Amino acid sequence: MPEVAVWFDIDGTLLDTGGAGSHAYGIAVRRHFGIEVDMNRIHFSGATDLGVLEDILTHHGQVDSLSQADAFFESLESAYNEAFIATPITVFAGVRELLRGLDDDANCLLGLVTGNAKRLAYNKLRHAQLDHHFDHGGFGDDHADRKEMARLAHERALALNKGNALSKTYLVGDTPRDIDAAHAIGAMAIGVATGGYDAEALLAAGADVALESLSDTEPCMTLFTNGG
Ligand SMILES: [Mg+2]
Repeated sequence: MPEVAVWFDIDGTLLDTGGAGSHAYGIAVRRHFGIEVDMNRIHFSGATDLGVLEDILTHHGQVDSLSQADAFFESLESAYNEAFIATPITVFAGVRELLRGLDDDANCLLGLVTGNAKRLAYNKLRHAQLDHHFDHGGFGDDHADRKEMARLAHERALALNKGNALSKTYLVGDTPRDIDAAHAIGAMAIGVATGGYDAEALLAAGADVALESLSDTEPCMTLFTNGG
């Protein structure tokens, strides 16, 4: 049974949609709720899909419509499909190699802790051809709080592991919210400076390790497999 779990955030950590994701979100909100949103006002970094939707609906006096979140995420998936065909997703350097390496390691469980709703997380990963690496996670439609999503990911990893304990757990992300989520479940917080925060800021936010990027596969593999 695997003894190590590594959970990854998606946006800013594995890939960048170059603003296409945020633009599509705005289109879907207009189509589904008839609300015109200034997407520049929305801070996606470290946020969750459910949290962003709640913020928009509250701001426009339609918080009751939050009950339509699942249907909205379905509309958003169509908008994503259009967006990511027009503007292909950029996968960061080293990510494919690292995920392949961890996936091949029988001692390692690979999961997600992402603010994306589950269907949207897998949609982005599918467009980037990375979806097959991840069999569980905590998602942005499980909870609006990333710490709770991390708790769920941990729970699901233990279930996959048939209740056998994990001796080392790592959560990799690009924002202070990822670091807080890691600490909330006792995982090692690995900051990666490919999103909106540099390594210094991630260390200041409490990251146990801050990497400039995931581009150097070998030291990253050593970190995750040798309990660095
Ligand atoms: Mg992120």
